[in-house]
Amino acid sequence: MAFLAEEVVYCPYCGEALDVLIDHQEAGQQYIEDCQVCCRPIVFKLVLNEIGDVSVSVHDEDDAY
Ligand SMILES: [Zn+2]
Repeated sequence: MAFLAEEVVYCPYCGEALDVLIDHQEAGQQYIEDCQVCCRPIVFKLVLNEIGDVSVSVHDEDDAY
């Protein structure tokens, strides 16, 4: 069953608050999306925690590799 959750993250470059929709089926994955405000690439990492919730963390591009 698909389960979507909305979470607020902050752009690592400009600090803008961004709403992201998290798909629990994508836990463990990461993807890159440009910030809507400063247009720089934000790396989103979806992490499954011990209670089965997915949380998202954001990183700047250099941090990811
Ligand atoms: Zn930004």
